[in-house]
Amino acid sequence: MAHVLVTGGAGYIGSHACKALKAAGYVPVTVDNLVTGWADAVKFGPFEQGNLLDRAYLDQVFEKYQPVAVMHFAAFSLVGESMQLPGIYWRNNVMGSLTLIEATAAAGCRNFVFSSTCATYGDQDNVVLDEDCVQKPINSYGASKRAIEDILANFGASDGINHVIFRYFNVAGADPDAEVGEFHRPETHLIPLVLDAIDGKRDALTVFGTDYATPDGTCIRDYVHVCDLVDAHVLGLEWLLKGKGSRVFNLGTGSGFSVREVVDACGAVTNRPVPMNEGPRRAGDAAKLVSGSVRAMRELGWTPQRSTMETMVRDAWHWHQNGHYEK
Ligand code: UDP
Repeated sequence: MAHVLVTGGAGYIGSHACKALKAAGYVPVTVDNLVTGWADAVKFGPFEQGNLLDRAYLDQVFEKYQPVAVMHFAAFSLVGESMQLPGIYWRNNVMGSLTLIEATAAAGCRNFVFSSTCATYGDQDNVVLDEDCVQKPINSYGASKRAIEDILANFGASDGINHVIFRYFNVAGADPDAEVGEFHRPETHLIPLVLDAIDGKRDALTVFGTDYATPDGTCIRDYVHVCDLVDAHVLGLEWLLKGKGSRVFNLGTGSGFSVREVVDACGAVTNRPVPMNEGPRRAGDAAKLVSGSVRAMRELGWTPQRSTMETMVRDAWHWHQNGHYEK
């Protein structure tokens, strides 16, 4: 069976990708240093613990498994943190990816699926954020991901690394079987924080900014279910294996939800009040990020199944109540 290297396979999205890859008949090999990931989340294939900056380790992993492709999820991904600690974003995300891409090329592997972000677009109100939109990141996280996109384009030209780049909007929800789910320590993402507040695991949710130029004053985001997102990755992998070449795809649904709307949905699904207060804006946040493209649906045949707000919150709540990792 064909092996696929999954960097960040012990993390939120990577662990769901491993489950989807296994279901599709591949062997996902998790490459993760467990800085933010969880050994407990590695359930669907072998685990090779190590650091992407360690070229000798990567060379050994490529030699051992001879993967047909790499799926690269491992990264720091917090907008707020990236504004305070840009150095770790450039070192971990950009230098780690460069080392991985060089190791991929040296091993003769030619298929690379990369986890990028809508944060590469920046804050462009009234612009349709399709894949051809100019990229003007306003935070270090988005800038680090745009740089990796550029590196991939260069290695595509020099070494024939065919790459599918997925620019994610906001990933939410969890495996409906609750085998894996979203578990960050500390948690910074909206839906798990709201569920923690509902559950009394924290005092209240603080809404970051209520004076944005949006209908209710809070930021608008486009949420996509993690299971739908990783299904697109399997389709992207198959696109590459069929020799269809390099391509960029947004992964969002085209529907925007404000922070207040997400909070309301969490209250409705759980049928509980949400303790909430209002705070200042978070540095690096764009007012509105909504996917303006159906390219993934049209070209990859991607059909999101679980990306309604209600289902995402329901699956996140199911995981919240039934799943966690210990190590
Ligand atoms: N947000 C918030 N309070 C929180 C965490 C997040 O108001 O405690 C807002 C955040 O400012 C953004 C949205 O929720 O507008 C989604 O944030 P998240 O960190 O989940 O994802 P991001 O958009 O940064 O990828």
